Amino acid sequence: MTTHRAAYLSAPVNALLEGLYEGTATVADILAEGDLGLGTFEDLDGEMVVLDGRAWQVDNTGTAREVDGTARTPFACVAPFRAETVDEVPPGTEIEEAINGLVPSLNMLYAIRIEGCFEGLRVRSVPRQEAYTPLVEVAKRQATFEFPQTEGTLCGFWTPAFLGNLAVPGCHLHFLDVARQRGGHLLSGRIASGRIALMHLPRLNMALPMTLDFLTAGLGRDAEAELKVIEKDR
Ligand SMILES: [Zn+2]
Repeated sequence: MTTHRAAYLSAPVNALLEGLYEGTATVADILAEGDLGLGTFEDLDGEMVVLDGRAWQVDNTGTAREVDGTARTPFACVAPFRAETVDEVPPGTEIEEAINGLVPSLNMLYAIRIEGCFEGLRVRSVPRQEAYTPLVEVAKRQATFEFPQTEGTLCGFWTPAFLGNLAVPGCHLHFLDVARQRGGHLLSGRIASGRIALMHLPRLNMALPMTLDFLTAGLGRDAEAELKVIEKDR
């Protein structure tokens, strides 16, 4: 059942950092909680993009294909998106900078959707993994893709720093091009023209996986330090 104005996390991100890549929710479970968001797939098999109630898998060649409700995920975050504010930003604005300038409070969670044309867009996707390889190791083998000029949609979240063990703090956006054929996890880029839609999310629903791996894992990593290396451009 969709909960009004709440983000849904299928698991805390620190489980992913430990290398717990077993799918604990299906795409159907995720889509029941929200129509916009992001995540990954079982065995860390690519990046997930959720837009308009549909889900795509971006493989490690940067190719996107739509998946059905049976695909499994160890980590996804979605929200039932309804734009509350829509802002245009000056051409050439760096994407993360633009969002940081629009977020009214550093202590609130926001869902984000940007439709537009982008310049110098850098995205990445991760290769399928064996379990228990820490994400920080996998990220060294990520594939990155550059789009000098492209049109499409960025979707995701802005998360307060104090939720850094649960989701990626700051901006976390995934890209899907207008043809719905290419995409990935955003590393950096600029908005050539476009609109940033935001929605604040004063509630967070999170599942804790009922798997032996999760229940017995040591979750002692420094999530903040590792996520900086993994999720941002270097
Ligand atoms: Zn991501």
